[in-house]
Amino acid sequence: DSISIAIDGPAAAGKSTVAKQIAKRLGIIYIDTGAMYRALTFQVLQEDIDPEDEKAVMEILNKIDIRLVQQEDGQHVLIDDRDVTEAIRYPDVTASVSAIAKHSAVRKNMVSAQQDLAKDHSVVMDGRDIGSQVLPDADVKIFLIASVSERAKRRFEENKQKGIPADLHTLEKEIERRDDLDSTREVSPLVKAEDAIELDTTSLSIDDVTEKILEICQP
Ligand code: C5P
Repeated sequence: DSISIAIDGPAAAGKSTVAKQIAKRLGIIYIDTGAMYRALTFQVLQEDIDPEDEKAVMEILNKIDIRLVQQEDGQHVLIDDRDVTEAIRYPDVTASVSAIAKHSAVRKNMVSAQQDLAKDHSVVMDGRDIGSQVLPDADVKIFLIASVSERAKRRFEENKQKGIPADLHTLEKEIERRDDLDSTREVSPLVKAEDAIELDTTSLSIDDVTEKILEICQP
């Protein structure tokens, strides 16, 4: 029997950390859909294309191969054979990714690629439109939220560990800006699916959140 778990929510709400833990505990595949939009954004910036230019962005998407590969130290993101796992977390990519993700042709392509990845096996997938668009029939749908200041704090710690430059105030502004862009775009804006369970993680540890979701997954 397979299970599909959709985890959506605003930026830096802890989605990917929780999703990774759940994947490990249940022995199922984790798919980081944000990483796919980030990889495309990285390549667009690399080739000096205007993120607003949907046609040019689609040309890039059609010529590259974005892959999520499981390695011993975790999931890696590849564009063709180039490892961009770290590069896609840098502030330049973060600042432009919402502009890329708003294009309807981009979303159509990504959603169908993500549905293919989820086909025929158990998955936990995180993003903004998983419960609403990518896996509308998911067995479990979670919508994670947390206060902006808590999310900025978590992202600050995470970036520090990865050696990515950041200050708390800038991170707060960036998170607010990205939430605003993601929730006001025309195509599949960030919104809680009607049948999703909302969890406010502001005062919960990541482990608590994982346990809560695992409880929800029990039949
Ligand atoms: O999850 P993460 O913060 O890495 O996502 C980066 C960006 O990709 C989001 O801010 C959003 O613009 C876009 N995204 C999306 N739909 C998804 C996943 C990510 O639009 N399913």
